[in-house]
Amino acid sequence: MGAQIIDGKAFAAKVRGQVADHVARLKESHGITPGLAVVLVGEDPASQVYVRSKGKMTVEVGMNSYEHKLDADTAEADLLALIDQLNKDPAVHGILVQLPLPGHLNEDLVINSIDPAKDVDGFHISNVGLLGTGQKSMVPCTPLGCLMMLRDHHGSLSGLDAVVVGRSNIVGKPMAQLLLGDSCTVTIAHSRTKDLPDVVRRADIVVAAVGRPEMVPGDWIKPGATVIDVGINRIDAPEKGEGKTRLVGDVHYPSAAEVAGAITPVPGGVGPMTIACLLANTLTAASRANDLQEPEGLTA
Ligand code: NAP
Repeated sequence: MGAQIIDGKAFAAKVRGQVADHVARLKESHGITPGLAVVLVGEDPASQVYVRSKGKMTVEVGMNSYEHKLDADTAEADLLALIDQLNKDPAVHGILVQLPLPGHLNEDLVINSIDPAKDVDGFHISNVGLLGTGQKSMVPCTPLGCLMMLRDHHGSLSGLDAVVVGRSNIVGKPMAQLLLGDSCTVTIAHSRTKDLPDVVRRADIVVAAVGRPEMVPGDWIKPGATVIDVGINRIDAPEKGEGKTRLVGDVHYPSAAEVAGAITPVPGGVGPMTIACLLANTLTAASRANDLQEPEGLTA
């Protein structure tokens, strides 16, 4: 295997360490403890796991964690009232509503009721617009993590050809905006893209955010390209025993690692960066709320 492995687990630990240092300084010099409120509606098992680990890591970096668990049948008005209360609470600098929400709740309405300055997921329509126009915004955590790893690996991204496969609002589109912001030449590919292998083959940077196990094989990758695999897919793994599964990305790792210059593994690549960037965003929000200088290297 020729590619350098981009170790997202180690990188995320470094980011969390930087966040913890900044939090300690904020407390000591200004008496401010950043606070992150996470709202979980219902009992989706995967969401419960995410919320638990977000809470744990929030406390580990010295921030306050506020968890609000609501019943699956919570009325929209009650959820909006809670968000209004969190918007007004000066101890809360970041608000995250865990998605997906139960079907009777309007996700767009709920997300857009969060104060954009506290929208640490970066999904509020104001933050989407600010990012798209190159203004200071809250940036979605997963693409921010990908950008940090790319900057770390390449230094400057200016002039590089980047292909983002996937056009979702939470990964593909903001990823493309961030790469454009760093002066890449950006192509967004999706399910209707013609000649996808040829499109991917011209990229210096490939970001795969599709949700299809091992869809991008090595022979789609330009030799030496950097491959960021956002996908998290669980597939059967009979070799591990009956009924066992394993995680794979959207890239066929063994063949892509033969040709790429650098590649993120799954697990241990993009995944750990997402929560690290959530903590970084909460710190950024707390700094902005108090008119303090933003931590360097932790925002776009
Ligand atoms: P999504 O909303 O389902 O979007 C998938 C995108 O892939 C869509 O734009 C779709 O195109 C495109 N697509 C589907 N089939 C395709 C094909 N055959 N060829 C080209 N494009 C195709 O997914 P998402 O929320 O962006 O997530 C993508 C993956 O990232 C998932 O595996 C998810 O679990 C993972 N993820 C990981 C993290 C993390 O922390 N690491 C965070 C978020 C998501 P159309 O728009 O044309 O349908």
